[in-house]
Amino acid sequence: DVDVSAILRSVVLSLSPFAQKQNVALVLEGAEGSDRVMGDQDQLTQVFTNLVENAIKYGGAGRQVSICVAAHTQEPTMRGPALRVDVADQGEGIAQEHIPRLTQRFYRVDSHRSREMGGTGLGLAIVKHIINRHRGRLRIESYAGKGSCFSVILPYE
Ligand code: ATP
Ligand code: MG
Repeated sequence: DVDVSAILRSVVLSLSPFAQKQNVALVLEGAEGSDRVMGDQDQLTQVFTNLVENAIKYGGAGRQVSICVAAHTQEPTMRGPALRVDVADQGEGIAQEHIPRLTQRFYRVDSHRSREMGGTGLGLAIVKHIINRHRGRLRIESYAGKGSCFSVILPYE
């Protein structure tokens, strides 16, 4: 098994130079202890790296990105208790019509920011693939003009 909170601490450490460069404050909540699930360390590191990197890129300079861990939650469509990690930004959000397509390979919302920030449009496709392999869920919520929240929901076993 792997310690998701420890993974999040290391992802925040390794992305903090990028966050600083973009003038974004990274805030990690609820990850002081150890929260273990069955899973692959490198793959889950990739998942949270991609999500936090997106939040920094698209969340808007001068704003905050918060990463919040919730243990033993009850989630719709999950059979048992789950571990949920919310990666939330305060950016422009994503229009509803794009949300179902975000995890398709090479799909990018045609905004200034996507074009100017660079990237290939594979990040969320990889996230989705890895979460599926862990029998988890990816939930995307967005409020136009207010920001987005990407929730990773992982079963304990
Ligand atoms: P890559 O991750 O391969 O470097 P990318 O970031 O463009 O490139 P994805 O991570 O798959 O690709 O994201 C797809 C698209 O979803 C992005 O281009 C962007 O338009 C949109 N997107 C992703 N995360 C956010 C977010 N937090 N806020 C607003 N839009 C987002
Ligand atoms: Mg990306």
